[in-house]
Formats: sequence, structure tokens, C-alpha cells
Amino acid sequence: MDILYRSTRGNGEAVTASQAVLKGLADDGGLFVPDRIPKLSVDMDSLAQMTYQETAYEVMSRFLTDYTEEELKNCIAKAYDEKFDTTQIAPLHEADGAYFLELFHGATIAFKDMALSILPHLMTTAARKNQVDNDIVILTATSGDTGKAALAGFADVPGTRIIVFYPKDGVSPIQEKQMVTQKGANTSVVAIRGNFDDAQTGVKKMFGDEKLEEALAKAGYQFSSANSINIGRLVPQVVYYVYAYAMLYKDKKIGRDEKINVVVPTGNFGNILAAYYAKQMGLPIDTLICASNENKVLYDFFVSGTYDRNREFILTSSPSMDILISSNLERLIYHLTGDDAKKNREFMKALSSDGKYTITDDMKEKLSDFYGNYASEEETAQTIADIYRESGYVIDTHTAVAADVYRKYRKENKDERKTVIASTASPFKFTRSVMKAINPACDSMSDFQLVDELSSIAKVEVPRAIEEIRTAPVLHDTVVEKDEMKDIVEKILGIG
Ligand SMILES: *Cc1c(COP(=O)(O)O)cnc(C)c1O
Repeated sequence: MDILYRSTRGNGEAVTASQAVLKGLADDGGLFVPDRIPKLSVDMDSLAQMTYQETAYEVMSRFLTDYTEEELKNCIAKAYDEKFDTTQIAPLHEADGAYFLELFHGATIAFKDMALSILPHLMTTAARKNQVDNDIVILTATSGDTGKAALAGFADVPGTRIIVFYPKDGVSPIQEKQMVTQKGANTSVVAIRGNFDDAQTGVKKMFGDEKLEEALAKAGYQFSSANSINIGRLVPQVVYYVYAYAMLYKDKKIGRDEKINVVVPTGNFGNILAAYYAKQMGLPIDTLICASNENKVLYDFFVSGTYDRNREFILTSSPSMDILISSNLERLIYHLTGDDAKKNREFMKALSSDGKYTITDDMKEKLSDFYGNYASEEETAQTIADIYRESGYVIDTHTAVAADVYRKYRKENKDERKTVIASTASPFKFTRSVMKAINPACDSMSDFQLVDELSSIAKVEVPRAIEEIRTAPVLHDTVVEKDEMKDIVEKILGIG
């Protein structure tokens, strides 16, 4: 039977998977959730023999039931190809008493590539299936990582355009260089004089602008969103947990049905929700360990049952986790209410009016799948240095938050189960923080000196993504005021 998708805030109106992928967000502002979590349909002995692409098909076809086998296999083949620098796509590395699941071997060396390399294909296929002839225009505001991963994913995908806005002085030099050198005739990158919130607000305004929508439609375009609440980003992330388990089983690191723990460095709660879905599918996962940085709103939630965003926003060395509203948590809250959209809506109303809500005791009991903790800036740096000294393995700041939290978990719980740590970025993406943690004297080096130094101490080749931007020409140099965002979109698309 088909799986249908309903809004976490709606009254039960259901759409197909492809419609949910096209829409991104439900009309009532809720997130699309599957009406049930499917079970894995093949046994572990079969999964252990599969490639990443084959595993992706087994998992994704269970969720995206209105895509045909041919459509889905086509999307998978286009996504997980030589853009990744290893045929394993997501290899495991054993260190510090755990298995690091390296999710950073794609085009932009961060885990967002795992989903953003397939989302454009899921979207264009969805458009065809639903008789949408318009080209899809992706508008994104970025503080660095998502923008580049979305650009790389959508570049030269027929039937799509992508326009990315970033704050001129609000991203790192390497992040800016990565974006302004983006190839692809359908890509545009625009810097704005303003901060990330200005960029985000400008994009949201355009999404809600009916006149603009009409003008777009006349010119054969429609907007869509590539952000992390799209079900087309969540489902591809379930795949690598199944794949990691199957690899451990294949290599005889775990026995049949042996339970493992999973640690995920968390911001928007998307990646760890995918692990939770993997568990619901029947993957033998024991504890889901949710790791936060100093913006520890999730840790406080797991301890107290109260989600409270009223606090100071802290800039940390793991910027992709500097988040106070974890948008994907809404899906978990909805499931904890027993898929009751009305109850969930009340919590979300409280979040938007008071900045907080408290779940019921019943719901709190169901949270026993999870353990939450956090790492301070000092602990994060210390963990990078420790693991390098003990094993020669260099991890990035986000992964280090997870590794530190795992150490705390193990000490507290004396739980020696095999554990997979989601390794979400290459250390080459956050070179300065990583090298400073290992050797403070490095801070005087330039960005590319740091890259070479890291390559030398880690004995790892400089990733292609970094090598390319050393010499790549700047292809995007538009800078606009924050109130000119709509004008530039009209100009780029040749409308208005
Ligand atoms: C986005 C990101 C995260 C957080 O992932 P969520 O799905 O938002 O929880 C962690 N690490 C890195 C490097 C990221 O880019």
C-alpha cells in the first residue's frame, strides 16, 4: 500500500511522496510526515552484499512509494556517482572505540551532500509525475554550508534554476570562495549587504509574494525550497544508517540483530530524526545519542521536557549547529503525541508566541530512545586534539562535539555497545578551528597554508573540493542591498 504524507499541523489531508517533495512545506506551515514508518523489506544478509546505491533503493523505495522503480533508480544513479571521492560513498573509520561514519565524501565535503545530491532529481521527477511543466526555481538563504551544497546539487540539472543569497560579511573566506566559483549556467549567487537573518527574511518574503508567484508562472517558473524540512532531504538520510549497520555486520564487527548506538551532532534535528526513522524501520539501534554544542536547547529539552528557545545565541566553532529552533524536532513531537496534529499545533503555537513549550509526561516517557548531552568549546577542541594524538585521525569540530558527547555517555552509562558516530564534515572544511585545537601555533598561518599543514599531519590528500577553489575563477560577483533581493531575482529570471 502507498505511503501518504500528512502535515504535522493539518487535519489529515494526505499527499503522495512526490507531491510532498515538490511542495516542501505544507500549506498550513506544518511538515510532511509519512502516515506510517515502513519496515525494511530485505534481511541483513542481503543488505550486507549491497552497494550504497542498492541500499538507497531498498530504503527509499519503502518511503517514496509513488516513484516507479525506474524513476527512483535513475535519481539514485545520478546522485551517488563520481561526485563522491569513494565508491563506498559513506565509509566507516574505526577510532576512539567507535566507528565514524564519514558523510563528507561528496561535492562540498559536508553531510548535506548526502541529501542535496539527490533532492534535485527527486524534485524534477516529481514535477514530471505531477504534470508540472514549469521550471523549478530554488531560492535559498545561507550562512555557508547549505548554499554551497544546494548549488552543487542543482548545478546543470535540467528544469531547475537556483539562486543563493548569502551575507557579504557573514560567511568564512573559504565558504565564500566555494560559492562564488560555482559553475553551472542555471546557478546564481548573490551577496547582500546585511546579515543572515536579512537574507532569510528576504527569501521568505518572496515565497509569500503572490504577485511574484503570478509573474513567475507566466514566465514558466515556480519556486521551491531545498531546506532541511523537505521530506526529499530526510528520506535519503535514513539510507546511510542502514548501510553503516550492514557494513558492520558484513565485516563481522557485530553479530546478527546485535544492537548498536548512534551518535549524531545535531542542529536542525534532521540527521538524528533520520536515524530514529531507521530504528522504526527495524534497524537494531539501541540509543540515539543527540549531541549539541553550547547552543544546548535540545539537551535541556531531553532533560526537562521543556523546549525553550529564549536564550542567548552563541557563535561556536561548529557553526552548522548554531541553531535555537530545531525545525525537524516538530516531526518527533508530532510522533510523540501519537500523530495528533491538533496537539502538535498547540505546542508549535506556544513556540512561536512564547518561544517555548513543555511536553506531557506520557510524551516524555516515549523519549527513552534518546540520550542528550552537549560539548563546550573547550571540550570540543580537546577532543580533536586527544583523538589525533591517540590515533592520528583528524575530525572536524561538528564531529568532535559528537565524539565528546559519546565519551560522556559511555562514562555515565558504562554501555560498551558498538557505536556509530555520524561524521558530518571533513576537517578540511573547518581547518582553522581544527588545526588550532591540535597546535595553537598554527593560527598565524593563511587559510591555504592550514590546508596543506592538515594534509601533512593527517596523512590525507587535500579533497578535490578544496583543491579546486585555490585557483578557480570567480563567476559570481553581484552584491545588492537587502531590499533589492526581489529586483535581482526578477532580473536573473528575466521577468517583471
Ligand atoms: C547541517 C549540519 C549539522 C546539523 O545537522 P541537522 O540535520 O541540522 O541536525 C551538523 N554538522 C554539519 C557539518 C552540518 O553541515
